[in-house]
Amino acid sequence: MSDWLTPGLAHLWLPYTQMQTAPPPLPVVASHGVRLQLADGRELIDGISSWWTACHGYNHPHIRAAVEAQLARLPHVMFAGLVHEPAARLAARLAALLPGDLERVFFTESGSVSVEVALKMALQYWRNRGQAEKKRIVYFRHGYHGDTFATMALCDPEEGMHTLFAGAMPDQIMAELPDTPAMAAAFNRVLATHAEHIAAVIVEPLVQGAGGMHMHDAATLRAIAEACHRHELLLIADEIMTGFGRSGRMFACDEAGVVPDIVCLSKALTGGTLPLAATVARRHVFEAFLADDTGAALMHGPTYMANPLACAAANASLDLFEPGQNSPRLEQVAAIESALRAELEPCRAIAGVAEVRVKGAIGAVELSCQPGGNIDLDGLRRRFAELGVWVRPFGKVVYLMPPFVIGSDDLSLLTGAVRRVLTERAASLP
Ligand SMILES: *Cc1c(COP(=O)(O)O)cnc(C)c1O
Repeated sequence: MSDWLTPGLAHLWLPYTQMQTAPPPLPVVASHGVRLQLADGRELIDGISSWWTACHGYNHPHIRAAVEAQLARLPHVMFAGLVHEPAARLAARLAALLPGDLERVFFTESGSVSVEVALKMALQYWRNRGQAEKKRIVYFRHGYHGDTFATMALCDPEEGMHTLFAGAMPDQIMAELPDTPAMAAAFNRVLATHAEHIAAVIVEPLVQGAGGMHMHDAATLRAIAEACHRHELLLIADEIMTGFGRSGRMFACDEAGVVPDIVCLSKALTGGTLPLAATVARRHVFEAFLADDTGAALMHGPTYMANPLACAAANASLDLFEPGQNSPRLEQVAAIESALRAELEPCRAIAGVAEVRVKGAIGAVELSCQPGGNIDLDGLRRRFAELGVWVRPFGKVVYLMPPFVIGSDDLSLLTGAVRRVLTERAASLP
C-alpha cells in the first residue's frame, strides 16, 4: 500500500468526520475523465464531481494547459493596488454571462467567504445609505450557505450547526419557501413584520443542496424576488452549487428570469481544479459604495484573493462552456437529466425510499427514516465503493451529481449502483 497513508492519517483531521468511529478514508492517487484511481489500483466512477466541482471531469487538458502557462508566468500576486489579466478577463466574462446588470465581481477563495462578502455588501449597502439598522438576513428552511460563523447562522437549524454554536452566531430569520399562494402571503407577512431591520434575503435558487437536495420551481423563486422588490430588500442568490449549468441553465436564476442584487459563485467556477469564489453585485449595489469618504468602501480583502492560477483555470473552464467547444455542456446536462429521471425513478418502488427528485444534472433519492433507526451512511458509502462508484449519501439523501462529460454507460453504472444498494438495504429493513 502507500507509505504515506498510515503515518499521515495519524495527523490528519477530516471534515464532518467522527474520527473515532468512521472508516478510514480511501487513498486516491490519480484521476482522469470521470474516474478516481485508488492506491490499490482500483478505479471509482465519481458520481458527485468532487463535492460538485469537477463539471468537466478530471484532468481536462485545456484547463491544465492554462494553469501550467499561468504557473510559469505569474502564479500569485497580491490584489491590492495591482491587477492582472486572468482576473480582469474573468470578471468581464462573468459579468457578460450573468443576467441584468450583475457586473461587479469581488473574488475570494471559498464559497463560504463569498457568502460572507455578500452579507457584508448587503449590510454596508444599507449603512452607506443611512439605514444602519437594516442588518438581519432572511434565509429558508433546508438552506445551506457555508460553514463559517455568519453563514452557519443561515443554515437550516435542524440540519445545520445551530444547536452546537447557539449563542455564538447572529440571530437571523428563517422563512419557509413561498411555493404556494398561501405560503407567499405568509412570506410577505414575515418580511413586512421585520422589513425595517432586514438587509437581505438569501436563497439557493431552484435547488437547495447541502440541506438535503430540496427543489422548488421557477415560480417560487419569482415569488421571492417579487417579495424582496415589494419590501425593498436585497436578494442574494447563492448559486455556489447551481451555477455553471448544474440546474440545466447556465445559472438557476436564468430559468426564473430573476436578476438578484448579489450572486455568489464558487464550486464549478474553476471546473474543480483550484479554489476560487466570486461575489457579483448589481450596479446599484456597487454605486452605494461610491463616495468621497473611504469609510464607505467595501472593507474586505483576502490574502489570496483573485489568485491568478485559479482565475486562469476559471477562464479555461468557461471556454469549455462556449458553443463549439467539444460538446456543449448544457446539452450534456439535459441528456443527464433525462437519464437520471428514467433510471432513478424506479427507486420509488424500493422499500425505504420516500421520494425521487431530479433537476438538471442532479438526482436525489430521499430515504424514509425508520422509526428509531438511523440511516447507516457509512455502510451505504462502503457498499458504493465496493461497487466501483464514488457516491456519498448524507442526511437522508443518496444523490448523484456527475461530471457533465460522463458517458451514458458510466451514468448507468452510477444509477444501477444506487438502485442496487437501496434494494439491498430494503431487504434488511424491519
Ligand atoms: C458548498 C456551498 C457553500 C460553501 O462553499 P465552501 O466553498 O464549502 O465554503 C455555500 N453555499 C452553497 C449553496 C454551497 O453548495
